[in-house]
Amino acid sequence: MGLLTSTGTPLKWEQAKQYANEVRTLGINYFLSVYKKLKEKENSCLKWGDEVEYLVITYDDETKNAKLLLNIQEIIDELRKEEEEAMKIPNSEETVKTLWRPEYGRYMIEGTPGTPYGGTLKSLLQIEPNMKLRREIVSKFLKPNEVAITLTSFPRLGCPGQFLEPHYEPTGPIARSLFVPDEVINPHARFQYLTSNIRERRGSKVAINVPIFRDKCTPDPFIDPTISKDRNLFPEDKEAAEGAALPNHIYMDSMVFGMGCCCLQITFQACNIEEARRLYDHLAVIGPIMLALTAAAPIWRGYLSDIDCRWNVIAGSVDDRTKEERGLEPLKNDRFVINKSRYDSIDCYISTDKTLKPEYNDLDLVYDQDICKKLMDNGIDELLARHISHLFIRDPLVIFKERMDHNDDEDHDHFENIQSTNWQTMRFKPPPPNSNIGWRVEFRSMEVQITDFENAAFSIFIILLTRVILSYGLNFYIPISKVDENMMIAHKRDAAMSEKFWFRKNVFADGNIPNDGNITQENENLSIPDKEALDSSNNSRLNGHADTNGSISSVEDEYEQMTINEIINGNGDKFPGLIVLISRYLESVNIDVETRCQLAKYLEFVSRRAKGKIKTTATWIRNFVRSHPKYNNDSVVSQEINYDLVKMVEKIQKGQVAVPELLDCFKV
Ligand code: ADP
Ligand code: MG
Ligand code: MG
Repeated sequence: MGLLTSTGTPLKWEQAKQYANEVRTLGINYFLSVYKKLKEKENSCLKWGDEVEYLVITYDDETKNAKLLLNIQEIIDELRKEEEEAMKIPNSEETVKTLWRPEYGRYMIEGTPGTPYGGTLKSLLQIEPNMKLRREIVSKFLKPNEVAITLTSFPRLGCPGQFLEPHYEPTGPIARSLFVPDEVINPHARFQYLTSNIRERRGSKVAINVPIFRDKCTPDPFIDPTISKDRNLFPEDKEAAEGAALPNHIYMDSMVFGMGCCCLQITFQACNIEEARRLYDHLAVIGPIMLALTAAAPIWRGYLSDIDCRWNVIAGSVDDRTKEERGLEPLKNDRFVINKSRYDSIDCYISTDKTLKPEYNDLDLVYDQDICKKLMDNGIDELLARHISHLFIRDPLVIFKERMDHNDDEDHDHFENIQSTNWQTMRFKPPPPNSNIGWRVEFRSMEVQITDFENAAFSIFIILLTRVILSYGLNFYIPISKVDENMMIAHKRDAAMSEKFWFRKNVFADGNIPNDGNITQENENLSIPDKEALDSSNNSRLNGHADTNGSISSVEDEYEQMTINEIINGNGDKFPGLIVLISRYLESVNIDVETRCQLAKYLEFVSRRAKGKIKTTATWIRNFVRSHPKYNNDSVVSQEINYDLVKMVEKIQKGQVAVPELLDCFKV
């Protein structure tokens, strides 16, 4: 989440919606002006950065309770002082090592590197030390019984009793949750209004139902005894009483259950818009694979669930679609039936590359036809026009009245208003105004891991994968509906080990790894090889979509289901494996031995996770709970189990305990 620059008078939904068309028009005008100015922009070097979100915990050792610490704004203010000082001195940004931002949960902090990392292989090694530095810096502002941890979901958020410090009763008018007070929401107006305007636009509270994990003593059917159907402070919210809480499910009713989760995101700069569009597409296919491989969220509202990751919970937590838009009532007041929440997997590929066959975009894309026409009339190609006009089917959720008074085409707030509330697996980011930043892409599906080592390993894997995609001209395209299926599969318990995912059989169009001669680098720079060489090798691969035997293949023959181990580590002669391709790429690049060994260590970790030699965080958490002496085999994660779990997470992140199941012999 970027800086919260907007201030002024936020509008309630009834007023805000009157400005929706105006915001869309201004946003599109802005995008057109950026596109016209910067479509030719070439930035030869890769830059990249990570975002890590932290939960701040306070322990009560007497009652054996680990709680979320709410009043951390002073800590964020302190953390940001260095940055603010630096901003006063021209060109001093380079000296700031870390940046800090508030997040949706009042107990959350987001940390990023002070400046993006550079485009050399050596720069990949900066990430883990930078992540460690962040923890060190935060810990300076915390008391001895407080700690910042990287756990995707806080297990006891929304449980009866004490899970917040200080404690508040759930009686707030903003989220109207039965389980969490409004004090849990960051007090900045943007977050508060996002919450209430989503609820008001939808016409009801959000309703998230996660299947319960059925253990030996879990009641059958499981009817959550902690939901009091009579305790409804807002008579208009009758959902729980009227069946919104499904039997055999864990029911959640507010935005914080999703947006209060932590994740790991990677943004990188492409050398030009075409490269950004290409990486956006191919990494979209990788999104669900990495979601399953980094799965870290098996517990919701104090219960072990039957899913392992956060994505669908967040999707449900910000689903602002009306009944008409969800297809539950005929369209009368609304414009579209929309198949997904604002937070979901992408719906269309956007590359101009010839490897993108129209058949791969097989979802019936919902888009604003007038906006699409306007974009195309102004010289934007159909794919990009559809992508933008698809994002712009949404209404802006938070509008500050004063922002509507002075507008021009240089003002990117209105575009960002819609763009940044389309929380999809990938984000295509145009260059910001008045900067030398290029076209960027954000990879958003990963769950945050307990240690900096793991978070660094997955980040490095993704950045190296982008280099391999570009250098070998890899093609990961499968129909986008199959990527959606993979997203659903990724949520299943232990999907990384037990499930299979749709993946392209042949990632090289001519069946062979392209000659490494094409990609050998002169130095350790991570920029891609000479464009002409790549174009000519791409073209030779493209003609007729020939398979290894030279025959024309149909799209259905191009993919099959593979395990994550096969996708990452390969399957003999059948499929090369992404790690194998990355290693091969690294062999062809000039780097010093030290860097090579370090990178090999991170890749080995990812490889072992994919093999199952190392468990996912979710599996480790589930095992921890199920083998806890106080666990009653009934899916309940009690206050004491949660306390021990969080304490253990702290020890692991500090390297104070060896947990081979999670880290093998890797040092953190
Ligand atoms: P968000 O859109 O998620 O709010 P931010 O703008 O806060 O993202 O930045 C996210 C990440 O992008 C950070 O890790 C930051 O270091 C990185 N970043 C910033 N500038 C660039 C750039 N020019 N190229 C690549 N990454 C960048
Ligand atoms: Mg964030
Ligand atoms: Mg981000």
